[in-house]
Amino acid sequence: MSVVATGDMLPDSPTTMYGPLPTERVKVYEFRADRPVRYLSVLVSRLSRADRVTIAFDDKAGGDADSAKTGPAMVGSVNESLDLVVETQPRQVGRGRELAPRAVDILTFYQSIVGDSPYGSFTLALVEQNLPGGHSPGYFAALHQPLPNTGVTWRNDPASFEGFPEFFLAHEIAHQWWGQAVGWRNYHEQWLSEGFAQYFAALYGQHHRGEDTFTDILRQLRRWSIAQSIRAPSTWATGSGTCATKAACSERSSTTRAQRCCTCSAAWWATRRSSGD
Ligand SMILES: [Zn+2]
Repeated sequence: MSVVATGDMLPDSPTTMYGPLPTERVKVYEFRADRPVRYLSVLVSRLSRADRVTIAFDDKAGGDADSAKTGPAMVGSVNESLDLVVETQPRQVGRGRELAPRAVDILTFYQSIVGDSPYGSFTLALVEQNLPGGHSPGYFAALHQPLPNTGVTWRNDPASFEGFPEFFLAHEIAHQWWGQAVGWRNYHEQWLSEGFAQYFAALYGQHHRGEDTFTDILRQLRRWSIAQSIRAPSTWATGSGTCATKAACSERSSTTRAQRCCTCSAAWWATRRSSGD
């Protein structure tokens, strides 16, 4: 078993110690976080090291590195480099080696925008899960790797971007800046985390895939937002499953009606999309 957790693992870790019973031995993993973190996380699994890279940030390549160092909000030191480690479950080692250069590119790109990296290390852990996605606490991210035979279709998901397969990697890495280094105090501010993670991922899509991909991402985000909004165009699902505009839909007089309206709105926007809007 291997352990990935918030912070840097100490060089002499893990150590073996006596357990509660004289015959028992336990392994102790110690991590140290030298930057503030919002919460502590730990991932325990069978993991293999796929790659390890030290990224030296080139201040001159980015636009705002100097202002990050001297800006009024900057307290303390700026990270000049970042250690990237890629750990994977056994069947994902090849995938991990593939993703390592992409992760380097994404981390370098975000650092060039902000002028700093929140932490001096980052571990990307690839774990097998049916649906794509992941979780990104301070210092590491667990990125889901759906298996080819998963059978789960997620093409209609708002985060499925056909022309941008690196989306989830870019999104989870962005959470090191947005959601971790910059957090929120209450529910009303939580959009800062997901909103900016989406925006940074979209910026990386523009950087890596080009203007058309960026436009496609924004169009898809907009379409989904409108379809989910209570201010979506009023549409009404009839008993036969077809959609028809109906003013009564906006009244939301019952939960069932509202749900049927939302379903129908999404279908309506899908129709608009296929018609070239
Ligand atoms: Zn997220």
